[in-house]
Amino acid sequence: MSESPQRISITEALSAAQDTRCLELGSGVLNRTPEVFQQLFGDKPALLVADTNTLAAAGQAVQEAFRRTGRACREPFIFTDPKLYAEHKLVTELEEALKGHDAIPVAVGSGTINDLTKLASHRAGRPYMVVATAASMDGYTAYGASITYQGSKQTFSCPAPAGVVADLEVICAAPEGMNASGYADLLAKVPAGADWLLADALGLDTIDQTAWAIVQGGLRAAVADPAGVRDRNVEAVRQLTEGLMLGGFAMQSARSSRVASGAEHQFSHLWDMQHHVYKGRAPSHGFKVGIGTLAVAGLYDDLLSRKLEDLDVADCCAQWPSEGECERAVRALFRQEDVLAVALKESRAKWVDAAALGGQLETLRRIWPDLKGRLREQLIPRSELKAMLLAVGAPVEPQQIGISRARLRASYEQAYYLRRRFTALDLATRCGLLEPALDAMFGPDGPWPMGRPWSRKI
Ligand SMILES: [Zn+2]
Repeated sequence: MSESPQRISITEALSAAQDTRCLELGSGVLNRTPEVFQQLFGDKPALLVADTNTLAAAGQAVQEAFRRTGRACREPFIFTDPKLYAEHKLVTELEEALKGHDAIPVAVGSGTINDLTKLASHRAGRPYMVVATAASMDGYTAYGASITYQGSKQTFSCPAPAGVVADLEVICAAPEGMNASGYADLLAKVPAGADWLLADALGLDTIDQTAWAIVQGGLRAAVADPAGVRDRNVEAVRQLTEGLMLGGFAMQSARSSRVASGAEHQFSHLWDMQHHVYKGRAPSHGFKVGIGTLAVAGLYDDLLSRKLEDLDVADCCAQWPSEGECERAVRALFRQEDVLAVALKESRAKWVDAAALGGQLETLRRIWPDLKGRLREQLIPRSELKAMLLAVGAPVEPQQIGISRARLRASYEQAYYLRRRFTALDLATRCGLLEPALDAMFGPDGPWPMGRPWSRKI
């Protein structure tokens, strides 16, 4: 059955990926960067793109390796802003610089440097490769770049890198918290897989077996040693890095982020769109996704305790909002214009009429006993996920990333409206169970008790 596939090798995953042709992963592979470059781009000159930190962590060594092999390598392009983030004007800056020569960019860094280089290279009509300096997210090998444009984070379409060099000595030495962040992004594939199982079972989004096997095949092994990741153990970090790279290859193969992201990412997207900052900066992608993962796992714990085979379908249909009521609910929930516009578009796209809802819920009633078993096999209970995140050194309480419990509670409904992708949030809403589940989760016996209703504050 789809949820217990064989582990897929990197070579097989690479052959399924559409853009990336080479992954060099291991201890001490930094020196092989010129060889990988040659294999991918022949005799073209190289241009390293780094910031001052990543230049010190790996860039200088890569530049030196190019020099030793006698290959043409321009003076590196260095971003010097100490508070560097992936903003559009930096893409333009790099793109302009690239247009002055024909060198192939070698991004040396993690999320920000990779995203900036990915988009600028594409716009300059050039491929690129990346030298990873931390296992901080799965975006290295994903297509598309997440860039802040006109004040909001947007995903721009562009190909993934042609090649990746991931030296475990460099990645093990990454700054505090970065690999923990990547671990949380990888752990998110557990509930994300459950969301896909749900959508598949209801006939709404068929599982792509190859992409599923790439992401889920080795996932349990890849997340098995969070304390090892925290302690910079090479084998644990290798498993983590490989898992993150595989996530990107699966997205390239399926041309969809569904394979690696579900409702837990919708929490993170929501907080991004709300420009959430804590202590002066945006919490890392992985840390937001980690809290989203616990939020969705809590919801699944609740849903799995219910007998949905006995669901009162007629009652659910009677409670189901009309399209107009749905729009009014969205307008009441979002005050920020740009977020409201996205929520209106996405919620319209996934609204169904009561008759269609009835059909879906009848199917759900029929398949629930079997589906529940498959979801249980896929999922890890919230309390265990929390222990894993704690062991890796990632936040486990929303307050640790500046999200109050009341705001977390409100985020469930907002996240539901923000994306058309069918997830546990949709299942709970369609069954009329989101509010009861939230009451349980944020009640006195739940994981996030909020006290008396009148003391709640968002
Ligand atoms: Zn992610």
